[in-house]
Amino acid sequence: MSFTFIREVMSPEELKKRLPLSDYAVKVKKERDEQIRRIFTGESDKFLVIIGPCSADNEEAVLDYMNRLAKLAGQVSDKLLIIPRIYTNKPRTTGEGYKGILSQPDPEKKPDFQEGLLAMRRMHLRAIDETGLTAADEMLYPENWPYVDDILSYVAVGARSVEDQQHRLTISGMDIPAGMKNPTSGALSVMMNSVVAAQKNHTFLYRKYEVETTGNPLAHTILRGATNKHNQNIANYHYEDLMRVLEMYEERPQLKNPACIVDANHSNSNKQYAEQPRIVKEVLHSRRMNPALHALVKGVMVESYIEPGCQKVGEHVYGKSITDPCLGWDMTERLLLDMAEIL
Ligand code: PEP
Ligand code: MN
Repeated sequence: MSFTFIREVMSPEELKKRLPLSDYAVKVKKERDEQIRRIFTGESDKFLVIIGPCSADNEEAVLDYMNRLAKLAGQVSDKLLIIPRIYTNKPRTTGEGYKGILSQPDPEKKPDFQEGLLAMRRMHLRAIDETGLTAADEMLYPENWPYVDDILSYVAVGARSVEDQQHRLTISGMDIPAGMKNPTSGALSVMMNSVVAAQKNHTFLYRKYEVETTGNPLAHTILRGATNKHNQNIANYHYEDLMRVLEMYEERPQLKNPACIVDANHSNSNKQYAEQPRIVKEVLHSRRMNPALHALVKGVMVESYIEPGCQKVGEHVYGKSITDPCLGWDMTERLLLDMAEIL
């Protein structure tokens, strides 16, 4: 048993030199980061929708989806700010299966990280240039942040990573909003502790350097539902759950910019993807019932792609998820138009 060092891959500097941002992309990223920041500080009352496929597995289908989304984003822009999910690294419950485009640029071939780095960055750049939308990704491997730190407008720390110190400390050095999810067990204290850690400054070891961070005042919470010890799903998007998060923020007055995003899929929908519109609408209703919740709940996360549901790797249905089941395009369009109407 040992490590085999297969080869050294490109550094973040080399990758950025090969695939630099266009002047247009630099401008878009700056403007969008500011618009998104204003939502978290409460200066803007727009509602965030972080939406897109569970995994960005195929550049053509993802760009097709993104172009449709951009058109719709324009129609609802007075109410909603859309952040597309371009998720390039996937955590797996048992470690098996497709781990994202960075690992496998072709899901049917073996891992190739050198090609994966290029595929990941190329897809993000094309998305910004073609749609004017900067994306969200999960920060699954904290050391990969310098490969995309000039591109992303939002990061999430997943349910399986949120208790990990290196994740929390890395987020503390980022200058964009970072959503810390509740862990799969559902313990809200773990999620809150994670936000406390990420908002503080730290000194730690990162990519061979001793580094210092400032703390990230835009780190916040994401409710994604949980699984109990009997492996049953426990949703946490209801009014009482949101009130509990509000109380937990009140118990931690040192936290800046209290905010909660509700993930409508995963253990909130029990992966019944078609429930997502109902869940989102319930969240909007709860928010209307209480001004404090209106201020706290800043957005939702939705898993959506072109075709509804999911498929196995190798089935080759265009625009259909190969990880978690997603809403199809028709239901996505309906949902966003309905949300803009309700808000
Ligand atoms: C996801 O967003 O696709 C995901 C894996 O989320 P979670 O960490 O909540 O399971
Ligand atoms: Mn998912």
